[in-house]
Amino acid sequence: MASCISEKMFALTQKNSAVREMFEEGNRLAKLYGRENVYDFSLGNPNFPAPAKVKDAVFDVLNNEPSTMVHGYMSNAGYPDVRQTIAESLNKRFETAFSADNILMTAGAAGGLNVILKTLLNPGDEVLAFAPYFLEYGNYIANYDGVLKVIPANLPSFQPDPKALEAALTERTKAVIINTPNNPTGVIYPAETIEALGAVLEKKSREFGHPIFILSDEPYRELAYDGAIVPWVTKLYRNTIVCYSWSKSLSLPGERIGYLVIPSEIDDYPLVFDAASIATRVLGFVNAPSLMQRTVMRCFDEKTNVNGYDSNRKALFSGLKAAGYECAEPQGAFYMWVKTPCDDKEFAQRAKKYNILVVPGTSFACPGYVRVAYCVSPQTIAGALPGFEKLAEDLGL
Ligand code: PLP
Repeated sequence: MASCISEKMFALTQKNSAVREMFEEGNRLAKLYGRENVYDFSLGNPNFPAPAKVKDAVFDVLNNEPSTMVHGYMSNAGYPDVRQTIAESLNKRFETAFSADNILMTAGAAGGLNVILKTLLNPGDEVLAFAPYFLEYGNYIANYDGVLKVIPANLPSFQPDPKALEAALTERTKAVIINTPNNPTGVIYPAETIEALGAVLEKKSREFGHPIFILSDEPYRELAYDGAIVPWVTKLYRNTIVCYSWSKSLSLPGERIGYLVIPSEIDDYPLVFDAASIATRVLGFVNAPSLMQRTVMRCFDEKTNVNGYDSNRKALFSGLKAAGYECAEPQGAFYMWVKTPCDDKEFAQRAKKYNILVVPGTSFACPGYVRVAYCVSPQTIAGALPGFEKLAEDLGL
């Protein structure tokens, strides 16, 4: 008998996310062997707690702001004072000139990406992403009947290649998603690379007679190591829209809070901003969670625990290198991208023998690697390294 659910959703039920699958597998192994004996590197769920200031801010909002405001409806774009505070904070950091009219509050980066894709895409429009990429992009683009086109990985640097971008662009290309610092590779794109991508997009926008947007997906902006600079993309390419999120920077992934930056300089501003506000409404978000909007406004000076992630990064990197694995030291985010001496799915399978869970690169459209998420406790890394060593021996490294 035919299923009563939609064909699109039926297809999704048949291919569950590998990341989520590993996460469920972790729960299963934890029941069998105890949570402390399972080394789950599958999910980008920050291990460090949100800064204490976040909790204080929540109470401050609840105790001191009128309940009808905190829990009430508001403009779909979010509270004007929150948006103005964000604009001013960005202006201070990046020498920009944003106002509240350029900031639209979202339910995290995922919410922001969906809002902007809904705003921009007609059925059949193409969106490009560089492999390896966060696999949900494909689902988000398909939500609006767009077509994801993947630009093959540029080995060994994993930096986006402007020539490959040029070759992939067509008259149907509406946008290119970039993600720096990158999930899953940990690379940061330098300003010159983004400028070179922008030059290609400008040339092709002129040729095709319509703008091609950069959607800069930035949940890892604050996670950069060794003083690495994460360039501010709107200054490097005019038609850029930024998707930001506090999921990783303040360890708040369950709270669903972020924002879009829609600069006044882009083509068709303010129509794009108005349409994105309406998209927020008609997608059913209506507005980003109000308590969190008021909370993050009080937490701009809070710092991500970069030192904690950095010490995890160093411990994991040196341990894996000593065991014979090939990987580059990540410059940002909290993922190690490790070359596998066998098929990546087989590697992930064999790692389970040592209660180690990692995600095959195939899940990021880049076989031959696995992603090891090191947003875990230092004990998890220390506990897993002997297993990684045994696995390396099994595989003849
Ligand atoms: N984009 C990338 C590259 C991610 O890694 C994630 C989450 O892991 C998201 C977007 C979604 O983030 P959020 O929780 O803010 O929706």
